[in-house]
Amino acid sequence: MMYEGTIYRPPSEADSLLVQVTIGCAWNKCTFCSMYKDKQYRIRSLEEVMADLREAERYRGRFKRIFLCDGDALALPTPFLTKILEEIKRLFPDIDGVRVYASSRDVLQKKPGELESLAKLGLDMAYIGLESGSDKVLAAVNKGITKQEMIDSAAALHKAGIKQSISVISGLGGKELSEEHILQTADALNKMQPDYLGMLVLHEGEDVGLYYVTEEQGLRVPSSRQVLAEMRLLMEHLELDDCFFSSAHVSNYFYVKGRLPGEKQKILAQIDSAYGSRVY
Ligand code: SF4
Repeated sequence: MMYEGTIYRPPSEADSLLVQVTIGCAWNKCTFCSMYKDKQYRIRSLEEVMADLREAERYRGRFKRIFLCDGDALALPTPFLTKILEEIKRLFPDIDGVRVYASSRDVLQKKPGELESLAKLGLDMAYIGLESGSDKVLAAVNKGITKQEMIDSAAALHKAGIKQSISVISGLGGKELSEEHILQTADALNKMQPDYLGMLVLHEGEDVGLYYVTEEQGLRVPSSRQVLAEMRLLMEHLELDDCFFSSAHVSNYFYVKGRLPGEKQKILAQIDSAYGSRVY
């Protein structure tokens, strides 16, 4: 298997086979993200990807899913991605699914029927960074997409039968926009109805691929108490029909998880307990 540069994958894909189909991120302009800043975006050649898949055949049975790296594999032209998914289906007919990082931009650029056909070929989940539901915050961090576009892309994925794991970032609105950031994020999520929701924390340094550089905008890495307060406010306002929530990302200080809506009160009690302790 050939890998170029640092490889990132969601925590839940720890046991998946990782296959790099693009190098870097097609957007690569979000100010808080350092994951692919050292890479010039390009699509790997189909021959290289196919060679990796054929090599991985020797590990057949040792993984249940395949995760296509890097930043936004859904940016691949659909005919190209179709060939990769067809080869995966041929070589690994028993796996549970293929997953990708995706931006809402990629989703909205797909023509009618394309997402559905990718889903039929095994693409079963997209990991998408909502980051914030506030258009002010999204513009400040140069996400290049609006809240409404995020909501529209979620509807397109639901229609195609592709599950969504959405991540949001505590602290992205700084102190000043903290409440707006969280309330708008809850509103966006309630409209998107993700299957999984992860809460990350704005972090300093490049160790976890997240940092924030525009200090002149008055935004800073949040304190642990701000993170807990934001997590509580978000949880209070979430109205999700069936979603697994987790803060188990390396950037977060506080680990809590549970299925919503059933375990909402349990999660709130855990956050309150942490907030009331002297540890945070
Ligand atoms: S947050 Fe996502 S879209 Fe933005 S630069 Fe990083 S990988 Fe690309």
